[in-house]
Amino acid sequence: VSKSRGRNCYQFFSSDMQVEAQQKRRLLEELRTALEEEQFELYYQPITSLKFETEEGGVKKAEALLRWNHPQRGVVGPEEFIHVAEEAGLIRELSQWVMQQTVATVSQWYKQGLDDIQISVNTSPSQFNDGGKWIDDWIHAIALHELPAHSIMIEITENVLMTTDDSIKDQLSRLQQRGFDVAIDDFGVGYSSLSYLQQLDIDLLKIDRSFIQHLTTDNDSVALVKAIVTMAHHLGLKVVAEGVETEQQRQHVLNVACDYLQGYIFAKPVPKDEFYHRYLLGNAEIT
Ligand code: C2E
Ligand code: MG
Ligand code: MG
Ligand code: MG
Repeated sequence: VSKSRGRNCYQFFSSDMQVEAQQKRRLLEELRTALEEEQFELYYQPITSLKFETEEGGVKKAEALLRWNHPQRGVVGPEEFIHVAEEAGLIRELSQWVMQQTVATVSQWYKQGLDDIQISVNTSPSQFNDGGKWIDDWIHAIALHELPAHSIMIEITENVLMTTDDSIKDQLSRLQQRGFDVAIDDFGVGYSSLSYLQQLDIDLLKIDRSFIQHLTTDNDSVALVKAIVTMAHHLGLKVVAEGVETEQQRQHVLNVACDYLQGYIFAKPVPKDEFYHRYLLGNAEIT
């Protein structure tokens, strides 16, 4: 804050910051309550083949996405609270809740014969700071539910790779050794060098929605996405196009040979039961 702008200016900004700090404190308080009172819920969004063939036999892949059923504000998306949870050190507890919910739900589906599905789960960068305890938690949870690790895909964002100390490499290879699949989320928006992909054992790239949106208007984006897909395939990775909303975008994504799409054009994230009935039941009837 520049004092040369005058004293009033300074006070204005300063009280603004106070309000912000106060709002944050209240949000944090509410998040603690939310954990205690089970106000969180996981929604599921299908990840399908580009031609939607999966629709017929039942969806095989989906991403679990966190929602907060706020008593006054209704359904609140993660973008509004994840960063606060992360800053305040609540993310560990929240991530554990997400893990437990996911494992319980997926094992329920497995027991109903849907034993070829895979659910993706997001991680927060700070989870990687505890030397990998969170991986022990996952291993423990799937063992308890007798769930194979390949039923779970762990999504990490590019910026986790940015901080490549050795521990992160270790944690990723540990996940792989244990049989979890690993995806890089929001690929392209960070600064990760492509050489990471070669060094690390990754199964899937998820190309960020911003690139997909530009495909229809911008030739550079087409070239870029094409290059990413080619390189990924070369390294033996599959590619998901995130945030496909229109038929035109789907055509582009087909042209550049992405393997899967996730987007409103096929489905929005929906609550567990709705997901099960709408997208999985095609499978369940066979068994
Ligand atoms: P993400 O992992 O990249 O998830 C994809 C986001 O794109 C989701 O937003 C999804 O609803 C949205 N999306 C999917 N298709 C479309 C589309 O066609 N158009 C548009 N406009 N959006 C689409 P959401 O659910 O709000 O989640 C936002 C972010 O919050 C996620 O981005 C992820 O980084 C984070 N997040 C979500 N759940 C969790 C969680 O359980 N743990 C952690 N640590 N982070 C989470
Ligand atoms: Mg994700
Ligand atoms: Mg693997
Ligand atoms: Mg993403």
